[in-house]
Amino acid sequence: MPGAFGLVFGCVMGALWGSFANVCIYRWPPSKEFPTGRSCAFPPSHCFSCSNNIKWYDNLPLISWLWLKGQCRFCKTSFSSRYLWVELACLILFGLMHVIAFSYKPAAMSQNAALLHYVFLCTFVFILVVIAFIDIDHQLVLDIVTYPWIPIFFMLGCLTYSVSAESRVLGVLIGYGSMRSIDILWEKILKRGPGMGGGDAKLLAMIGAFLGWQALPITVFAGCIFGILQALPAAVRKGEEDFLQRKLPFGPFLAMGALTYVCLIAIKPPLPEFLSAIELFYYSDWMKLYDPLFFSL
Ligand SMILES: [Zn+2]
Repeated sequence: MPGAFGLVFGCVMGALWGSFANVCIYRWPPSKEFPTGRSCAFPPSHCFSCSNNIKWYDNLPLISWLWLKGQCRFCKTSFSSRYLWVELACLILFGLMHVIAFSYKPAAMSQNAALLHYVFLCTFVFILVVIAFIDIDHQLVLDIVTYPWIPIFFMLGCLTYSVSAESRVLGVLIGYGSMRSIDILWEKILKRGPGMGGGDAKLLAMIGAFLGWQALPITVFAGCIFGILQALPAAVRKGEEDFLQRKLPFGPFLAMGALTYVCLIAIKPPLPEFLSAIELFYYSDWMKLYDPLFFSL
């Protein structure tokens, strides 16, 4: 659905899926009580304090939280503003993906193909948001999320891009292999304590499965920049000497790096001189990444 109406519809869908993302983020991670996590569907949404079920009109994304000032209607317990931020993040990102899919599509790509591309991009965004926020809460990238989505994104990638299947197989292998080798170097050879953990390697494999190995350098590079930007102010303020020792979940930054890559190759902003190699490699290749067969849909 192109145009302004489509954009608004996309943003509303983003807020609704953001609401569902909150449920996944809250229920999927393992806990003492539920070692394998909990189901998203049952029991229905309820207040964790008074156990009253939350009615549908109190569960509208963004609106209900603001209307009830972030409190339970019955017992007035405060709900975290995180629910609001997750919904807002999905709303903005679904909107952004709409612009990418429709306003920056190659001229030869049909509207139907662009719509399917949009749905796949939103699926990618949704899974990245769930992974990122679980990682923030638990320093954990869940296998139950990455394992099934590596083959699913591989297949979705086959439908939209002509990034060849080989590129995406390489994306999985290089994504996983590069992260694991850094980890092994850090942990086993340099003996500098626990590394990043295998979760980030599986996340990068998932990103490679969808976008191809070409996406990995920019994803990791942009992810590191975001990570440094986020950690630096706190480090300077507190004068932390153990800056490098601090444990920071890397999943959210890898997710932001992957979305930066998606935006960069679609929008193709002019790059400074010293990055012209990137420009040549990525921009010239990207147009070829769309499968001509798919345009005829
Ligand atoms: Zn309550």
